[in-house]
Amino acid sequence: MIPFNRPPRTGNEDQYVLDAMRSNKISGDGQYGQKCQAWFESHLDCPKTLLTPSCTQALEMAALLIDIQLGDEVIMPSYTFVSTANAFVLRGAKIVFVDIHPDTMNMDASLIEAAITPRTKAIVPVHYAGVGCDMKAINSIAQRHNLFVIEDAAQGMMARYEDRYLGTLGHIAAFSFHETKNVTSGGEGGLLILNDPRFIPRAEIIREKGTNRNLFFRGMVDKYTWVDAGSSYLPSELQAAYLWGQLAQAEAITRDRLITWDIYYKGLAELAAQGCVTLPNIPPECQHNAHMFYLKCKSLEERAALLAHFKKQDILAVFHYVPLHSAPAGERFSRFHGVDRYTTQESERLIRLPLWYGMERNISGMVIEQIKRFYLDRR
Ligand SMILES: *Cc1c(COP(=O)(O)O)cnc(C)c1O
Repeated sequence: MIPFNRPPRTGNEDQYVLDAMRSNKISGDGQYGQKCQAWFESHLDCPKTLLTPSCTQALEMAALLIDIQLGDEVIMPSYTFVSTANAFVLRGAKIVFVDIHPDTMNMDASLIEAAITPRTKAIVPVHYAGVGCDMKAINSIAQRHNLFVIEDAAQGMMARYEDRYLGTLGHIAAFSFHETKNVTSGGEGGLLILNDPRFIPRAEIIREKGTNRNLFFRGMVDKYTWVDAGSSYLPSELQAAYLWGQLAQAEAITRDRLITWDIYYKGLAELAAQGCVTLPNIPPECQHNAHMFYLKCKSLEERAALLAHFKKQDILAVFHYVPLHSAPAGERFSRFHGVDRYTTQESERLIRLPLWYGMERNISGMVIEQIKRFYLDRR
């Protein structure tokens, strides 16, 4: 069977996880946690990062940090993972969806301004497949209307927009280290990125159950106490140690994934030229990270047939997302501003191909062959 994903593994994780296990500090913010955060702060050139147990929880922290109140509105694409919306729904926000651009599957920045109301508090661009959203346009709209920009960069580690890394373009951003992402902290994990230093003191308090424990450890207060609303947003030191085993290889992981991505792209170029499939489009200002390789079939029916063909050949390919506005919870918590011209239509055509770090070249070759055979048989 050809799986859809294999969690990345560099071989360095074991020694660090064992080392963490044998230390007498295995809760959060130990040596490995500090090392990972320092790595990200220097790599991203940003004032503060905080490891979290997941990207979902980093997004929840972002919603707390910008003080989302009941009835506030947050603009985002409907074509995204549920956590992008849930983080704000949990604080009482109304989600306002705008359509995507079919070329990138990212939110269409030209539709944002018309969706803004006096209740709008934030824009949440999702960098789908590690391809940057139109951040120049989004940031300029946000500035004009005094809105926060929270990047859902769950898929965006190591990818760039112009000369900046994704995750450094909004006020706050979130990465995911889930096992399906390019880099993992042992299955689950995330990172909160604070590009605006105003958020740092409160972020540290929210993450430590609403206490000033962080100041206490730095010797800045003589006892720690409950100072604000908060929760527990620290990953264990074992997760940080696992992640530390991957960070030194982050460039190599990205390079390797990009090679596989290019093999798919070149291998399917002829089918695309014949109009059988649509391949991803990478805007010139974006350097992506090969988080995913997708193609688009002509229709929902054709996609189902291709998936069935893959299944017969023991190849696991998947699709996502059911647009959030059309899901049961979407009716309760959201509205779609404007016309759904592309979100539903494009989501029904998309299929993700197997892709992982260290994927053998003959496997990507087999997948390409099966796609070609499928379209040959359909003629
Ligand atoms: C993976 C993902 C998330 C959630 O990440 P977790 O670390 O699993 O919480 C959120 N948003 C997007 C766009 C994702 O791809």
